[in-house]
Amino acid sequence: MSEKEKYCVNCKCKITGIVYLKCLDNFLQHKYFDTEEENVFCSQDCFCEYMMLEQIDNENYDFDFPDDLEEEE
Ligand SMILES: [Zn+2]
Repeated sequence: MSEKEKYCVNCKCKITGIVYLKCLDNFLQHKYFDTEEENVFCSQDCFCEYMMLEQIDNENYDFDFPDDLEEEE
């Protein structure tokens, strides 16, 4: 059996390096990947994109820094 060529499922690029990324979570595997070929990513960015991981602004972020910082001696 010859080694099958692997392609990133997100950007479709051919995996040429010695490593690639694969999701090992059972639930996610079940939900997102029907076959092993669908669980191949060239980079973390591609994985995040595929999983729709996005950066969201934290509305609770406190911009008011305490102004008594200099009191420390
Ligand atoms: Zn990719």
